[in-house]
Amino acid sequence: MQIVSTLSDLRTARLSLDGTVALVPTMGYLHEGHLSLIRKAKQECRNVVLSIFVNPAQFGANEDLSKYPRDLERDLALVSPLGVDLVWTPTPEIMYPNGYQTWVEVEAMTRPLEGAMRPTHFKGVTTVVAKLFNATQPDKAYFGQKDAQQAAVIRQMVRDLNFPIEIIVCPTMREADGLAMSSRNKYLEGDDRKAATILFRALTAARSAYEGGERNAEVLRRKMREVLGNEPRAQVQYVSCADYDTLEELETINGKTLLSMAVLLGKTRLIDNFVLE
Ligand code: AMP
Repeated sequence: MQIVSTLSDLRTARLSLDGTVALVPTMGYLHEGHLSLIRKAKQECRNVVLSIFVNPAQFGANEDLSKYPRDLERDLALVSPLGVDLVWTPTPEIMYPNGYQTWVEVEAMTRPLEGAMRPTHFKGVTTVVAKLFNATQPDKAYFGQKDAQQAAVIRQMVRDLNFPIEIIVCPTMREADGLAMSSRNKYLEGDDRKAATILFRALTAARSAYEGGERNAEVLRRKMREVLGNEPRAQVQYVSCADYDTLEELETINGKTLLSMAVLLGKTRLIDNFVLE
C-alpha cells in the first residue's frame, strides 16, 4: 500500500497502476461504511485508490471543520488488510493553493434538502470530487447511499461534464440498532446516542406505510414528523419525500423515491434516508 501526499507523488504512483482503477473518496476517521465501499471497489476493480481529505470548502463558516475527527494512523491500519493499493492524503494547500479560483457547481439539485441548510456545501463537494477525479483518473468511483443528495449531485456532475467514470452507490451501513454509521456519531453521548435511533424509526414507519399501499407523499412526510416528534431531544431540520433522481418533492409516489431527513441532537447534526424502489 503506497501512501502519498503531493500531486507529483500521486501522479507517479497512479502511472504505476496497471488495469482498472477504483476511487473511494473519504474525509477519513473511517468506519464500516467506508470499509464497505473499499471492499466493493476491490471486488470490481484491480486497483483501489483511497483519498482521505477533510475538505475545508464543503464546511460552512459555523460548521465543525476544526473539530472534525481525524486519525490517519488508525485509518491506515483499518484499510491495509483490505488490499488498498494507493492512499492519497493531500493537504488543503495542495488542493487549494494561494490564488485558487475555479469552482464546479451543480445548480437546481443542490438547492433543496442539505443545500437549503448548508448553502455552500455542494459547491465544495463537487469541486473537490472533480479535482479528485482529474488527479486520480479512475474508471469507477464509489459513494455511499448515506449521503443520498451528494450521490445524486455527483451523478449529475459526471453526466454534465462528461467524466468517463462510472459512479457506484453502495448501501448505508448501520449500527445494530439502526443508526446509520457516520464519523460524526462520535459526538453523540449518553441519551443523545440512544435518541439517535429516532431517524431510523421514523424512516421505518414511513416505509411501512408505503409498503401498506400509501402513495401520498405528504402522508409519509407527516408520518416521519410524527415519529420524530416523539423524541423531545430531536430538533427536525427537514423531512422529505422526493423523486430519487431530481430530488423534487412529490405529491404522489409513482417511481423510485427518496425519503430523507436531517435532525439535530444537541449540537450533532444527523442525516439519514431510505430509498423506495
Ligand atoms: P465521508 O468520509 O463522510 O465524506 O464519507 C465518505 C464516503 O463514505 C461517502 O461516499 C459517504 O456517503 C460514504 N459513507 C459514509 N457513511 C456511510 C455509511 N454508513 N454507509 C455507507 N457509506 C457511507
